[in-house]
Amino acid sequence: QTSLADADPELAAVLGQELGRQRGTLEMIASENFAPRAVLEAQGSVLTNKYAEGYPGKRYYGGCEYVDVAEELALSRVKSLFGAEYANVQPHSGAQANAAAMHALIRHGDGILGLELAHGGHLTHGMKINFSGRLYDVAAYGVDPKTFLVDMDVVREKALAHRPKLIVAGWSAYPRQLDFAAFRAIADEVGAYLMVDMAHFAGLVAAGLHPNPVPYAHVTTSTTHKTLAGPRGGIILANSDEHAKKFQSAVFPGQQGGPLMHVIAGKAAAFKIAHGEEFKDRQARTLRGAKILAERLTAEDATKAGISVLTGGTDVHLVLVDLRESTLDGQQAEDRLHEIGITVNRNAVPFDPRPPMVTSGLRIGTPALATRGFGDEQFTEVADVIAAALQPTCDVDALRKRVDALAADFPLYEGLESW
Ligand code: PLP
Repeated sequence: QTSLADADPELAAVLGQELGRQRGTLEMIASENFAPRAVLEAQGSVLTNKYAEGYPGKRYYGGCEYVDVAEELALSRVKSLFGAEYANVQPHSGAQANAAAMHALIRHGDGILGLELAHGGHLTHGMKINFSGRLYDVAAYGVDPKTFLVDMDVVREKALAHRPKLIVAGWSAYPRQLDFAAFRAIADEVGAYLMVDMAHFAGLVAAGLHPNPVPYAHVTTSTTHKTLAGPRGGIILANSDEHAKKFQSAVFPGQQGGPLMHVIAGKAAAFKIAHGEEFKDRQARTLRGAKILAERLTAEDATKAGISVLTGGTDVHLVLVDLRESTLDGQQAEDRLHEIGITVNRNAVPFDPRPPMVTSGLRIGTPALATRGFGDEQFTEVADVIAAALQPTCDVDALRKRVDALAADFPLYEGLESW
């Protein structure tokens, strides 16, 4: 039984370097998190060996008695976490969960209506060369050019004009909560299904700190690795069993073959952790951290440097920094933060005058640092560091030292030598 270090020292070194990078920098990509050790263990386990096409109790392979238990645990835990009647924990990713949910409810050529990609929507909500844009007849709603908020009157107008069979509510880059009841009312008015993609904010929902879309939507999808802090993967939930058979067959055999049982075990562990008090506290710190960041990036010195925050603040785990008035563009701002040890991604702002590879914005999230243990004091310090770094000029070495100090104060994966 050769270890990775013995079998492939070259690759083992890469894993070691990545662990070092995660420990030594501050991770503020809004869609990322640090999976707990329990999840890493489950994912690195012998469950990776098991084929289990089908569902618990109805498999096409022998020897599924234990992986059945793992999947049942994941199912019962995720249902109680989100108050769902139906769950499927097999989608390999968020994109596959969305593909399966659409496949189950509508037919190729039917209309869908989702948030414009350039305004914060996801590829799977109707982008032209994504499966969603190729298989369905897409219309999109955008945010208001002044407030940068989703205007439900506009959503309704678009729905009445386009008559979609499915409306998608959900986002990858939007700093506020959506009105799920209003979305459902519009869906009902035009005879469409409502699909909520809560990939980004599922952890906040699980902690009771964000409205739960499950009661309103015909189907709710999510990833499990963002605010939820589980393994990379997807889930499908519904508030009734009405379409259960269609969802089951859309995932397997419709989209996928064998489920990733090691990942499903990781999901089960993450859902258990998400029921606990520590998880709730972490989500609360995530939200407070984002608010602190928004406040700091709308203070006078930031405003003077042409920095602002879309919608003026945030109700979720991320802040969208608007650099349209700044001398730094999105690429330069991302590079500047990278230089001082903070990882973020540049992000187009709606109606962005700069090209998509450059952009005029940053998306900055707090989930990973909250998992690392950050509270108000550390989020205030990191927000100050970011505000200073985004000035036209800054003392890179001094800021890097402040980042190093924060990283050193909050060790990550203590005791792990590799992985
Ligand atoms: N849905 C939303 C809203 C997302 O933000 C993402 C990922 O960024 C996905 C779906 C897709 O998830 P995955 O990358 O697991 O396919």
